[in-house]
Amino acid sequence: MDDCIFCKIINRELPSTVVYEDDRVMAFKDINPEAPVHVLIVPKEHIKDLNDVDSGSAGYIVDIHMAAKKIAQKLGIAESGYRLINNCGEDGGQTVFHIHYHLVGGRKLSTKIL
Ligand code: C5P
Repeated sequence: MDDCIFCKIINRELPSTVVYEDDRVMAFKDINPEAPVHVLIVPKEHIKDLNDVDSGSAGYIVDIHMAAKKIAQKLGIAESGYRLINNCGEDGGQTVFHIHYHLVGGRKLSTKIL
């Protein structure tokens, strides 16, 4: 999508620090990290949010989870633990409307959901 920041990152029209990529998903460091490890995992297809996922694109959710597992291993937080977060819609805290999952870890995270 033309005016989507994450599509531009995927297409290398904007810079990012890529930590993982395959033919379906890309992962790059969040520019405003909230933990020692804070990576965003995105599908290469533009999907607005979780509400926009259908049976044809649901495989991306599995792809993202499998990428998260590999990235956690690669970045050394698989054993200590990590969190995978999706914000959906404005009340859910979503600010970039290309579906993405935050992979955060590298320190003890709060046990609270909110
Ligand atoms: O879930 P939400 O939509 O709020 O998350 C968007 C995330 O994208 C933020 O954590 C923000 O720091 C990150 N971001 C980024 N690179 C950009 C624009 C936003 O890493 N160019």
